[in-house]
Amino acid sequence: METPHIAVIGAGLAGLACAQRLRAAGLAVTLFDKGRRPGGRLATRRLVWPTGEALLDHGAQYFTARTPAFLALCGRLLEVGALRPWSGRVLDQRAPDPGRAETRYLGHPGMNDLARYLAQDLTVHCEAEVSALERRSTGWVLHFKAQASREGFAAVAVALPAEQTAGLLTDIAPALAASAAAALTAPCWAGLFAFAPEAAWPDWQGLRPAAGAALGWLARARDGAALVVHASPEWSRAHLEDPPAVVEAALLAELSHYCPGLGPPLAASVHRWRYALVEQAAGTPCEFDPALGLGVCGDWRLGPRVEWAWTAGDALGQQLSAAFSHPH
Ligand SMILES: Cc1cc2nc3c(=O)[nH]c(=O)nc-3n(C[C@H](O)[C@H](O)[C@H](O)COP(=O)(O)OP(=O)(O)OC[C@H]3O[C@@H](n4cnc5c(N)ncnc54)[C@H](O)[C@@H]3O)c2cc1C
Repeated sequence: METPHIAVIGAGLAGLACAQRLRAAGLAVTLFDKGRRPGGRLATRRLVWPTGEALLDHGAQYFTARTPAFLALCGRLLEVGALRPWSGRVLDQRAPDPGRAETRYLGHPGMNDLARYLAQDLTVHCEAEVSALERRSTGWVLHFKAQASREGFAAVAVALPAEQTAGLLTDIAPALAASAAAALTAPCWAGLFAFAPEAAWPDWQGLRPAAGAALGWLARARDGAALVVHASPEWSRAHLEDPPAVVEAALLAELSHYCPGLGPPLAASVHRWRYALVEQAAGTPCEFDPALGLGVCGDWRLGPRVEWAWTAGDALGQQLSAAFSHPH
């Protein structure tokens, strides 16, 4: 009997975790992602200016590990050098969380390299935006925004943010679409700024502004004279459709309150995350409809953390493997 072929839509951490499980179970798996590389919100950009350059993570900043399965993965990733512990000084202007003194992890050399490492043995098609799914008697067909359709998939795992999941599934899987539609993801405007190395740099690596501030997070680049700032969910929502140049100026003005000695930036850019941080989660790691051969995962199942994205993807991978490894 032919090995069942499973399509995973979305090659962020959830999709990668799902695909790794499927591959380990001996199933054929292909990932499709609309981005230029795998990783989704595990995103790194190189900021280049005449006198230097810096790697900046403009999505997830650092992450922690609490469950045994994710701790085990982090252990393996530390061993191969795809991950580093981070002990940067964080100035927390909110009520600090007294409970936890956890190890913080960073992808190495950038957050995206973690995804690159996990994707290396998988088949990933990038710049492949899925626009619709169709179920035929011969299996699932994937339709793309800008390329020929692909058919013959025994099952599909959807590993997208909640809002995009709901959009894709409304017509073909109303129950799964409804659970995605009940989840909510806040946007985030991110600003990336390079300054002169000899400027008056702050003595922290990360700063979490007080609640109610326009900025939600500021962090220095690991390897260069640059900073990334994240606007708060409230500010990002209010300015979601503002032109990038307007947002850049506003984020820079906010940044100067915290770092008055940096002077004018040498390079700057902004990135809009329309779906950044889960505000309302589904509450279970994944959902799988065996009759349809369709499942959903992603951070929106559990909450706004890298670990929960991986946990959700891994859980869906396990369910799909159990359903397809021993065809009846
Ligand atoms: C600004 C920001 C800061 C964050 N900070 C932290 C932090 O400090 N700590 C932490 O633990 N977490 C943080 N997070 C959250 C963390 O990044 C996410 O929870 C996690 O990366 C989500 O992974 P995912 O696989 O569920 O989704 P994603 O990474 O969003 O993956 C979804 C993928 O689907 C693709 N896609 C979308 N639509 C389509 C389509 N139609 N067809 C094909 N592909 C499609 C996208 O390109 C993307 O690659 C942060 C996120 C952001 C944005």
